[in-house]
Amino acid sequence: MIQRLDSPTIGEEIFSLASNIFPICRSITGNGVRETLRCLRQHIDLTVHEVPSGTDAFDWSVPQEWNIRDAFIKDSAGNRVIDFRSCNLHVVSYSTPVRGWLPLSELKQHIHTLPEQPDLIPYRTSYYRPDWGFCMTHNQLQSLKDEAYEVLIDSSLEDGSLTYGEYLHRGATDLEVLLSTHICHPSMANDNCSGVSLLTLLAKRLAGVKTRYSYRFLFIPGTIGAIVWLSRNESVVSRIRHGLVVTGVGDGGDPTYKKSRRGCSEIDAAMAHVLRHIAPAGEVLDFSPYGYDERQYCSPGFNLPVGRLQRSQFATFPEYHTSGDDLDFIHPQHLAQSYRLITSALDVIENNLRMVNLLPRCEPQLGRRGLYGSLGGEASHASQIMAYLWVLNYSDGEHSLLDIANRADLPFATIRAAAGRLSAAGLLLQATDQKDDADRAGNMTTASKG
Ligand code: ZN
Repeated sequence: MIQRLDSPTIGEEIFSLASNIFPICRSITGNGVRETLRCLRQHIDLTVHEVPSGTDAFDWSVPQEWNIRDAFIKDSAGNRVIDFRSCNLHVVSYSTPVRGWLPLSELKQHIHTLPEQPDLIPYRTSYYRPDWGFCMTHNQLQSLKDEAYEVLIDSSLEDGSLTYGEYLHRGATDLEVLLSTHICHPSMANDNCSGVSLLTLLAKRLAGVKTRYSYRFLFIPGTIGAIVWLSRNESVVSRIRHGLVVTGVGDGGDPTYKKSRRGCSEIDAAMAHVLRHIAPAGEVLDFSPYGYDERQYCSPGFNLPVGRLQRSQFATFPEYHTSGDDLDFIHPQHLAQSYRLITSALDVIENNLRMVNLLPRCEPQLGRRGLYGSLGGEASHASQIMAYLWVLNYSDGEHSLLDIANRADLPFATIRAAAGRLSAAGLLLQATDQKDDADRAGNMTTASKG
């Protein structure tokens, strides 16, 4: 499966899509999200949902829709000293409309800067309390003359809808893998163009691949989008067997995986495994109730096996939520590695079977079955032999192939390939209760609804 998903140009492709959607002014609602989803639809046939303002979702309700056409601060000579059209971070997201003249002293109460990083424009929002504001570099604020300024924020906050995108890849079973990313930030590359683009191109490639699981991709505004989706999809939720929140996957930091609330989900083990083998400097964190949409998926009423993959952890790097998170901050090679981590983890969960050794009394003779010679491929001859021995010894119906890969300290793909050849040689069989696992899981879907 993973070979089918891989491509030497994947990092460039993800970067290119991220560059296309980077300029769009997104927020948690509004035309920026719609325009972004239209870009994604050039790659995948995603369904766009519109949920009306005021719709209840658990303890929340869908806010009014925000749109913005223009905004500026003009000096007394009529020059646009701040121009929304040159950088959409200049306006606090969800700013109420404003038009008028203000002295600098009053205007300053609505200006946000980063005195510690005087060259960067901060990203600010005002989703759930009516306010307006501008963001600029601290250097620019200090250069403003003490005079009156004309300000305009040509925005609207009206009843409309919240927009999100959903794409389902159907596998052999209706048990699902959830892949979710937020799509509510204006022009920042890592947060969140990188995750949106990576998942779009993963979905596109997955379309040609036969899978055991069905894969559900969500492109949703952060927090409110996940809450709305969960509130409308409780019947789908019970089919989710694994999941990942994917965001901030293009920067040069080492990957960070945050475990699901359960802490011992198969996706947790799979991600820890692929990090160890692909990006050993990466970090695995325990769950905490702060962060991205894993907060909603792992809220106690759902407690889904959903972890989070990003590279540098949010808020730990100076470019976070600033104009420094631009297209120079992400690189195809980092995007490609993040992609590979995800496809490798999917390869694990797709193929993590339990096998039974059919000749468990003493070692079977590998040479007689043509299994002792070099078989080519990525693993060395010695590690292939070790993989056979580990698989044969631990295929007792209890240990999964991932358990065996971890015990052997070999990549899952090597163990899976060894298991495939041993099966072909008639030495291994899938544990008989395995199919039942899926069936039982299917039954639990209905049983656990009560
Ligand atoms: Zn963010």
